[in-house]
Amino acid sequence: MNEGSRAAQYDMLVIGGGINGCGIARDAAGRGFSVFLCEMNDLASGTSSAATKLVHGGLRYLEHYAFRLVRESLLERETLWRSAPHVIWPLRFVLPHHSGLRSAWFLRLGLFVYDHLGGRKLLPPTRTLDLRRDAAGKPLKPEFKTAFEYSDCWVDDSRLVVLNARDAAARGAEVHTRLRCLSARQDNGHWRLVLRDAAGGLRDVTARLLVNAAGPWVGEVLRQATGQNEAAAVRLVKGSHIVLPRLFDHDRCYIFQNADSRIIFAIPYERDFTLIGTTDIDYEGDPGAVSASAEEIAYLCSAASEYFVTPIRPEAVVWTYSGVRPLYDDGAGSAQEATRDYVLRLHNEGGQPPLVNIFGGKITTYRRLSEAAMTTVEQVLGKRGPSWTASSALPGGDFPQTGFAQLCIDLHKQFPFLAPDHTQRLARAYGTDTPSVLAGVSSAAGLGRHFGATLYEAEVRYLIKAEWARTAEDVLWRRSKLGLRLTREETAALDQWMMQGDELPSLKAARS
Ligand code: FAD
Repeated sequence: MNEGSRAAQYDMLVIGGGINGCGIARDAAGRGFSVFLCEMNDLASGTSSAATKLVHGGLRYLEHYAFRLVRESLLERETLWRSAPHVIWPLRFVLPHHSGLRSAWFLRLGLFVYDHLGGRKLLPPTRTLDLRRDAAGKPLKPEFKTAFEYSDCWVDDSRLVVLNARDAAARGAEVHTRLRCLSARQDNGHWRLVLRDAAGGLRDVTARLLVNAAGPWVGEVLRQATGQNEAAAVRLVKGSHIVLPRLFDHDRCYIFQNADSRIIFAIPYERDFTLIGTTDIDYEGDPGAVSASAEEIAYLCSAASEYFVTPIRPEAVVWTYSGVRPLYDDGAGSAQEATRDYVLRLHNEGGQPPLVNIFGGKITTYRRLSEAAMTTVEQVLGKRGPSWTASSALPGGDFPQTGFAQLCIDLHKQFPFLAPDHTQRLARAYGTDTPSVLAGVSSAAGLGRHFGATLYEAEVRYLIKAEWARTAEDVLWRRSKLGLRLTREETAALDQWMMQGDELPSLKAARS
């Protein structure tokens, strides 16, 4: 970096390429602000790829009287589904009544409130199931005779992040991955940031306002980068999930109550698998080094085995993932009781340039959090444009909310050489952008090199060019979940191919 050179200047610099950073960058760029976003690793490499992946009101938060959060989240379900019907879709939840735990009337009352608190137009209401007759009862132990079935939505969390980043970039934001914020200092009423890229190169950027959306690193960024201290406001809570070969044949999800008053979900996942989670454990240490412990795996297996006829054994687990919730510390006793609501803190005392810190939040509320952040931003930078994201489709999401089957039919006509499961996977990931992913491909041979499962060169090239993918891990675990299907050798071959990418010499620098 040449200290004497003039740094590029922006209205706003966002630290963090998770759902909140990308959502804020998108909203701000759409209102006409100049935005620079830096993410130290890959997009969604932090908490935003490690969620249970539900767009939900959070039934259990009703027990904590979190009515504001639950109502906002419930209202958000259909808004988000409408904006991205390829990566978000409705899911029915089966809640068995457990005779030793919450009573049936209590569950029914909670679900009545859930159904009527707000925003449910297309999602079907709660109904009661006789598990002795309904297919949902088949994999469960015979003592579970009654259940309640209600609606929420499913989301591909890491793809939602990338779609927000793409839309932000399409509206003029600069989105940079593998670019870490080392320091942020005040300089003549502006923020002056030093950023380091993957090759060790330094870059100098100035901005009128700084948004700290570093998720579980929010306190670290505050301390190390800006020299301030509000770390006490963050409570890090680890959550882990386990993935097993498919445990049941229907497309509904189970919500199981545990004796410790927690709940866990067992969710149909990636067609051939079942996802079970999560845990809630206070966490200290590097959020990037988090992983599922043997105790957590045993806990999840035993909690699910309380309900399923066939016991769930740790040996059957094919994959685990863990994340750290960056919760706002409201002083709650246990980790599960800590609020899931978000808190925004603006610092601009004494003429210092404004800094907005983001604490807490859920994937479900990222769009509302982004709007709230913009209200704060506009207090200091002035108003540029109205709220706009509630009625705007994310990339590839401009088709009718209930039109996914028709999209697959249309894509099959356009690309008849693709196997049906390949068409469906591409439609889920890219929606109406699928033809861009397959631009110039008119036969199976045109897909290029085959890397395993339904992954071909054409898609990988698209991910590198349009979605900031740089490594096999980016492609296999965040842009897709094909990591569940590729062998170790296939993964290594993909990594090698991406490293030697002919059209992308910058890849090597980014990975060195
Ligand atoms: P992150 O996604 O962690 O993003 C922060 C980013 O900042 C990271 O990518 C990091 O690399 C980057 N960064 C940090 N420091 C720097 C730096 N110095 N320079 C540049 N970049 C930096 N929510 C739901 O709505 N539904 C659910 O079902 C759900 N389930 C969950 C289950 C678990 C186990 C967990 C942990 C969370 C769950 N959540 C759920 C909550 C949700 O996942 C989080 O609230 C959300 O992902 C947080 O996003 P974020 O952008 O704040 O943080």
